[in-house]
Amino acid sequence: MKIAIIGAGAAGCFCAIELKRRLPYAIVDIYEAGNKPLAKVAITGGGRCNLTNSFESIDNLKEAYPRGDKLMRKVFSAFDNRDTWEWFENEGVKLVLQDDHCVFPASQDAMQIVNLFLTRMRQLGVNILTRHKVDSVKSLMDEYDATVVTIGGYHPKTVIPGGTVIPGRTGDLFEGLDLEIVPPVPSLFTFNLPSSPVRDLMGTVVEDVTVSLAGTRFKASGPLLITHWGMSGPAVLKLSSYAARYLAEVRYDSTLLVNWCGGVDLDSVRSTLQRNAVKNPLKLIINSHPEYIPSRLWTYLVTKSKIREDARWAEIGPKGLNRLAETLSNDTYHIKGQSRFKEEFVTCGGVSLTNINNKTLECVKHPGLYFAGEVLDVDAITGGFNLQAAWSTGFLAAVSIAKRT
Ligand SMILES: Cc1cc2nc3c(=O)[nH]c(=O)nc-3n(C[C@H](O)[C@H](O)[C@H](O)COP(=O)(O)OP(=O)(O)OC[C@H]3O[C@@H](n4cnc5c(N)ncnc54)[C@H](O)[C@@H]3O)c2cc1C
Repeated sequence: MKIAIIGAGAAGCFCAIELKRRLPYAIVDIYEAGNKPLAKVAITGGGRCNLTNSFESIDNLKEAYPRGDKLMRKVFSAFDNRDTWEWFENEGVKLVLQDDHCVFPASQDAMQIVNLFLTRMRQLGVNILTRHKVDSVKSLMDEYDATVVTIGGYHPKTVIPGGTVIPGRTGDLFEGLDLEIVPPVPSLFTFNLPSSPVRDLMGTVVEDVTVSLAGTRFKASGPLLITHWGMSGPAVLKLSSYAARYLAEVRYDSTLLVNWCGGVDLDSVRSTLQRNAVKNPLKLIINSHPEYIPSRLWTYLVTKSKIREDARWAEIGPKGLNRLAETLSNDTYHIKGQSRFKEEFVTCGGVSLTNINNKTLECVKHPGLYFAGEVLDVDAITGGFNLQAAWSTGFLAAVSIAKRT
C-alpha cells in the first residue's frame, strides 16, 4: 500500500508515525514544500512548544475552538488531550502542566518534540521528501492508495472582480476536486489603537479584564497587556479568534470596549466607587487605585473621566462618579488594524467540514482522500489547542486509513 501525506508539519508527521505503527509494510511518503520538516513546531510556544492543554477551564468546546468544535468533539473520542499526555510520556517526553492549564515538555524545548518525531519517522521508515511542493492533490491521488492533506493554513488563489487571479500560497492545489473552501482569514492577532494615548502605558498588565466589540456579541476575558501599538494579551487574542471573520469583514476597523473590572457591571462599579467616596472623603482619587488596576493606568482612567488629578473623593460629585464608573466598566478604543503576536497566528477557514466524514476525516466526494490539521476549517484560541487539533486529526486519519485496508 502507498500513502502520500502532504505537509511535514505537526499533523502530517504525527499521522505518518501512527500509520507506520499500524501498517509497517506500507510506503508512507511525506511531501514537504520547505527545506525542513516540522519547521513550525520548532518555534511553537516561543520555542517551548505548548503541545496541549488540560481543558480544565473549558466548559464548552466552542470556547476553545470557535470553528470546528463539533468536529473536535468527535475526533477527541478517538484521541484527546489525555491521550496526547500519555503518548508523549510513553515516548519519553516528560510533560509539565502550568497553572494556566497549558502543557509543555518539562525540557521547555520544542526541539525535543521535533527530534523525537524525526527519530521515530527514521526508525519506522517514513520517507520525507523536502523541497517537494505539491501543486495538485488530484494528480497525487492517482499515484497513491490513500492521500492525507495536512498543509497548515490553506490559502487558495483569489479571483478579484474583473477576473484577476492573485495566487495564494497553495494555488490550484484542490483543482478538479470540487471542494467547498471557506475563505481564509487570520486569527490570533493583537489590536492596533493608532491614536490612543493608552499606548504610553505600554508594558502595563491587568490580570482580569473583559473585552468586547461594540455592536456584536463577541466577548472574551483574561489578562490584558498594553503595548506600544495597542492592546494584546490572552483576552485580546481570544477576542481576535472569536471575531476573526467579523474583524476581517470590517477591515479591522471597530470599537473595542474594555471592562477593567473583570466584567463587573456599571451599577456595581458605581456602588463600589460611591462607598469609597463616603469612606475616604479626604483622600486624593488618583491615590486610591483598586488592587487590580496599576496606579499609572488608574491615573490615566481618572484623567480620561475628566476628573482633576488633585480632586478628593468628597469633590467627585454624581456626574464625576458616573463618568469614572463608565470608564472603568465600558472604556472605548478605536481599533484600526491588527498585528501579529510573537508571529504566532493560525488560519480561520480552509477546507469546509461539509466535505468530510467526521468519523473518519475522509473526503465524502473522494474516497481515499483525508484531511488533518490546520488545512481544515478548524482553529482554536492560544493555549495548546491548535497543536492538540493537529495531533488528534492526524491520529484519526491514520486510524481510518488503517481500518480501510
Ligand atoms: C509562531 C507560532 C507559534 C505557535 N505556537 C503554538 C503553540 O505553542 N501551541 C499550539 O497549540 N499551537 C501553536 N501554533 C499553531 C500551530 O503551530 C499550528 O496550528 C500547527 O502547527 C498546525 O499543524 P499542521 O500540521 O496542520 O500545519 P503546519 O505545521 O503548518 O504544517 C504544514 C506543512 O505543510 C507544508 N506545505 C504547505 N503547502 C504545501 C504544499 N503545497 N506541498 C507540500 N507541502 C506543503 C508547509 O511547509 C508545512 O511544513 C503556533 C503557530 C505559530 C505560527
